[in-house]
Amino acid sequence: MEEEECEQVPQENPPEEPPWDPTQELSGGLKEKEPTPQKLRLLLVGKTGSGKSATGNSILGRNAFESRLSSRPVTQTVQRGCGLWAGWELEVLDTPDILCAQAPPEGATQEVCRALAASAPGPHALLLVTQLGRFTEEDQWAARRLQEVFGPGVLAYTVLVFTRKEDLAGDSLEEYLRETDNQQLARLDAMCTRRHCGFNNRAQGPEREAQLQELMGQIEVILWENEDRCYSNRAYQYLLSQGQEGPTTQGPGSQEGPRGEPWLEGLSRVQKESEETHKSLLQKAPL
Ligand code: GDP
Ligand code: MG
Repeated sequence: MEEEECEQVPQENPPEEPPWDPTQELSGGLKEKEPTPQKLRLLLVGKTGSGKSATGNSILGRNAFESRLSSRPVTQTVQRGCGLWAGWELEVLDTPDILCAQAPPEGATQEVCRALAASAPGPHALLLVTQLGRFTEEDQWAARRLQEVFGPGVLAYTVLVFTRKEDLAGDSLEEYLRETDNQQLARLDAMCTRRHCGFNNRAQGPEREAQLQELMGQIEVILWENEDRCYSNRAYQYLLSQGQEGPTTQGPGSQEGPRGEPWLEGLSRVQKESEETHKSLLQKAPL
């Protein structure tokens, strides 16, 4: 990290993007290639305790997010931290467990919507964080939910991040993944076209820089493959159609929604419909 660019800010800050051009958005991928983005939005996802916040801190090179061992979720709401790295303006979004099974359905949708609004008009890459050597059913569920929530195409924008890389004691992550007998993990890795990297979130100095470099290399491949476009889906398009007035302002003519946030009601409706569609698309997929 070259220098800190901005302090962690609450989700309430509006996304900074050019005004929406509907002809571009509705062209469904026919949009002209954008110049290399100055700003990269990175969305951290994964089960509680996997090391999302610690990974966000490693990326930013400072303690932007609270990270600690706890039997209860430490990160309660979406958090944003910014920094500069090699000419990129990084916007790192740390999330609570938006992919969990346990949360009550209504609350879960609202947290998902907050994460969507905070990452509008869409993340350039999603980092699916899992603890090395502990790919459990919960992680498997998180990977499944990731596709249900964001759409099956999201894996083309996803990097698998394995925390506690130090447990490899110098062995290669490649070899570990090639030889794992965890079929679900091997399959997920293949579905992410083997975009993965390891993080020792206790590392400092050159080791921290080297692992960040490796991650950014993976992200550059994602950017190249997707012609520098960020990930989009119906929910992000809905937010764009509302003039990106997600977390801060009231949408035109909208009524008070859950918790007095009018934008949330419309987005929740769109998101619920999308999830149903994604679920039926994924029904026959084994993961
Ligand atoms: P989150 O719930 O996914 O945000 O997880 P946290 O970032 O809060 O991390 C949970 C615990 O795992 C904390 O005690 C972290 O210090 C620890 N942790 C995360 N990454 C690493 C790592 O790479 N190495 C080690 N040794 N501990 C880690
Ligand atoms: Mg956390």
